[in-house]
Amino acid sequence: MKIIVCIKQVPEIAEVKIDPKTNTLIREGVPSIVNPFDEIAVEEAVRIKEKHGGEVTVITMGPPQARKALMRCLAMGADKGILLTDRAFAGSDTWATSFTLAQAIKKMEYDLILCGTRAIDGDTAQVGPELAENLGITPITYVNRVEIDEERKKVTVHRETEEGYEVIESRLPVLLTAIKGLNEPRIPALREIMLAKKKEIKEITRVDMGGDPQSYGLSGSFTEVVKIFTPKQREGGIIIQDEPVASAKKLTQLLLEEPIIKKLKGKVN
Ligand SMILES: Cc1cc2nc3c(=O)[nH]c(=O)nc-3n(C[C@H](O)[C@H](O)[C@H](O)COP(=O)(O)OP(=O)(O)OC[C@H]3O[C@@H](n4cnc5c(N)ncnc54)[C@H](O)[C@@H]3O)c2cc1C
Repeated sequence: MKIIVCIKQVPEIAEVKIDPKTNTLIREGVPSIVNPFDEIAVEEAVRIKEKHGGEVTVITMGPPQARKALMRCLAMGADKGILLTDRAFAGSDTWATSFTLAQAIKKMEYDLILCGTRAIDGDTAQVGPELAENLGITPITYVNRVEIDEERKKVTVHRETEEGYEVIESRLPVLLTAIKGLNEPRIPALREIMLAKKKEIKEITRVDMGGDPQSYGLSGSFTEVVKIFTPKQREGGIIIQDEPVASAKKLTQLLLEEPIIKKLKGKVN
């Protein structure tokens, strides 16, 4: 089994702050981690390799510092890393991100691609399905169980839905997006961390990938971030704790004081 896992380096979300003047994320001094959903995807890939044999390649598009995130995945048991890094990739929206990943992956052999369901910073959950579209393979999202049938070249997955789960069988190759509950990612021991340093991480630039330069980065992006802001803190609600009749009276009084009700009353009268 040749498995590719797409991973993203993200800021430790609890510490993300927004610059109120520039409306951009303050990244300086914020520790970076492997997107937690991507760690689940890496863990699943390594478990499949341990059961069926094969090779796990982790790939990311990001700045040179994203090498650290790849190292973590190599320590978890992945075999090789690929870092797509170039100034030309800066400003990529989800489409340009998936296009860039696809350009690299098209040149590789694979039976299975694993992504996280969503990145905890960008949070669009678009890159996985867009990547599958770019590669012309089937995406199956919200996966919390994977069984591989190597002989039949098929995979059976459980896909979480609002009502329960669907059982889906698909031919390989396929792209799966992992959710919490698929597994519990391992924490690499010191020995694995040391061994990871000897594994290969290949750097690929825009020129290496070829294609139309306008398809990458900001110029290849269809969307634009117009504004980013911290939503206003909501005020706490009112809890009425009284006898039913008294509660109803208080509630009616409060509702009548609401501007929207006053406005509607004005219209009715
Ligand atoms: C106009 C514009 C400019 C932007 N500029 C920047 C910028 O300069 N710097 C910046 O950091 N972000 C930038 N972004 C955000 C960036 O586009 C998204 O973070 C990125 O496209 C991934 O989307 P997401 O975070 O919503 O990932 P999701 O779609 O939520 O991620 C789902 C899964 O896709 C995979 N994945 C996502 N991103 C990557 C990746 N980079 N490499 C490998 N696998 C991945 C992972 O498996 C992940 O779990 C910009 C966005 C826009 C619209």
